[in-house]
Amino acid sequence: MSMKLEDAFVELFGKNSSRDFSVTYGRLRGYNARVRMTPLTIDFQCSKAWRGVSPEIQKGLFQVLLSRLFKHPGKTLHMDLYHNFIRSLPRVAPKTHNHPVLEGSFQRVNAAFFAGLMDQPNLRLGKGINRLGTYEYATDTLKISGILLEHPELMDYVMYHELLHKKHQYKAGARRHTHHSAAFRTDEARFPRAAELEKELERLVRQEKSLLSWW
Ligand SMILES: [Zn+2]
Repeated sequence: MSMKLEDAFVELFGKNSSRDFSVTYGRLRGYNARVRMTPLTIDFQCSKAWRGVSPEIQKGLFQVLLSRLFKHPGKTLHMDLYHNFIRSLPRVAPKTHNHPVLEGSFQRVNAAFFAGLMDQPNLRLGKGINRLGTYEYATDTLKISGILLEHPELMDYVMYHELLHKKHQYKAGARRHTHHSAAFRTDEARFPRAAELEKELERLVRQEKSLLSWW
């Protein structure tokens, strides 16, 4: 593999690296990966899932990480392969989870805001109070907290927010950490009574927390 890593570097920068390369697989979740540089080495850490991905796409991954590491705005065929691969993940992720109430909410929101064009993700009920909703891109899994089960309008609002993550999350070259972009916030504000619903959500969370501490 170290030969491949060297190739990835040379293809991107047009010269050899003075450092040695290594790659390890494990620990990280989903399709996460990162790179670390020391004075003598450049070390890639990839999730287990990457082990099964074709070397061509992995090469693109290494180049994307290298181009971020060195703030080098390069583009290669392999990087394109990588971006296409990541973009395809929600579509190819197995659909194994559903929940009738969440599905009802998904269908309302999909019809009202996405012209019915959004593919249904895995839908799961979450247990937390602090996280009312989450969306995980690689497994196409949307979770909504059980405390919203009795509040269809609030549930739809959170469902909409999480589906916007599905819509916005992946942009080639975008940093992983830009979570709520300006475009995201603009979309989010299209939900009727968004500001009021935010306040209602805060109230509901406070109420649930005080119930917990009372018991
Ligand atoms: Zn969010």
